[in-house]
Amino acid sequence: AFANLTILPPDPLFGLSARFKADTRANKVDLGIGAYRDNQGKPWILPSVRLAEKKLHADPTYNHEYLSISGFEPFTSAAARVILGNSSPVIQDNRIVSIQSLSGTGALHVAASFLKQFYTGSDAAPTVYISKPTWANHIQIFESAGIQTAFYPYWNDATKSLDLEGYLATITAAPRGSIFLLHACAHNPTGLDPTQAQWKQIISSIYAKGHLPLFDSAYQGFASGSLEADAWAVRHAVATQPQDSTILICQSFAKNVGMYGERAGVIHAITPKFNKDLNAAISTNLQKIIRSELSNPPAYGAKVVATVLNTPELYVQWEKDLVTMSSRISTMRRALKAELEVLQTPGKWDHIVEQQGMFSFTGLSAREVQRLEETHGVYMVSSGRASVAGLNEGNVKRVAQAINEVVVH
Ligand code: PMP
Repeated sequence: AFANLTILPPDPLFGLSARFKADTRANKVDLGIGAYRDNQGKPWILPSVRLAEKKLHADPTYNHEYLSISGFEPFTSAAARVILGNSSPVIQDNRIVSIQSLSGTGALHVAASFLKQFYTGSDAAPTVYISKPTWANHIQIFESAGIQTAFYPYWNDATKSLDLEGYLATITAAPRGSIFLLHACAHNPTGLDPTQAQWKQIISSIYAKGHLPLFDSAYQGFASGSLEADAWAVRHAVATQPQDSTILICQSFAKNVGMYGERAGVIHAITPKFNKDLNAAISTNLQKIIRSELSNPPAYGAKVVATVLNTPELYVQWEKDLVTMSSRISTMRRALKAELEVLQTPGKWDHIVEQQGMFSFTGLSAREVQRLEETHGVYMVSSGRASVAGLNEGNVKRVAQAINEVVVH
């Protein structure tokens, strides 16, 4: 017999996607899931990825053997260089353990299991502090691993800006040695990132209370088009890392290499000074988690991403691809705002162009979002989060008209 086995509601995001697919209206628009679309509204295989796949398949030694438990080393080590920078002292000093994961979600899950088993940073049971709002999956990933969750204020609805005061106050009030989950860039869902000056305050407050920073890096290159600029917060935390602390980074290549379904990700643990035994203890225990849950990670995406990252011409192409994606999204932000202004839609729409990355937190209410879907076939998350990547020259005017209608209605 089973206890408490009940039917659950559909996942909000994947449920939205199913309703969109079932909608037969020809002019429907999907601003739901965070996946890049080209100007024709189609999924886009990055040119760098096409070239890498060709190179990979032409290699006579290519095969489908198992990877090791820790994953494909040319992938995990190149991934560390992408987030930390080629000349990072962390890499030179061998202060990093990098283990392949099932994309960003898998990295977060492994981090949660590892922290649950071993983290003794705080007197109380460790709590992970998560931004309010956040990517909905964050909460259940940690709760299912048995880690308590709490929120830090982030988005000030009235001013559509960062609630820095509330954020810093929560860092200071949290029990010493708590865990702070930080969006490395392109905050999901708000599209609002702290400035560098704000990051400095946030990170120094986290360290002052002996908290553990856990970076979720799912959009490097998407916020600004520059891998360097989008890694600024992580690199600042690494550069100012105190002794006796550990930094965790959960890195996804779903969005920035467009490898969504191939599940290419890495969990990195960074220690303050080289300690061979500590590295080995972290590495072997992360591998024990991987072995019991997936035995070894999927190979294909890791090989493709490794080929992009480790082939200089393909890396240059990848950087261009990031600019292609991020600049098209910026163009669509400006176009949507301009259309709303032409229509004189009540409200201010500057935040659409000020926000970064894949998403805009439009400020539309749940009722307005529902009417957008039902009356106009324009789909977005009920929080008012729109995936700007779903806009293109062919639909932005209609989306603006639909938003105008629901706001005026
Ligand atoms: N973190 C954030 C903030 C995200 O938005 C996402 C993707 N929606 C992820 C992590 C992980 O995605 P994936 O597991 O596909 O890498």
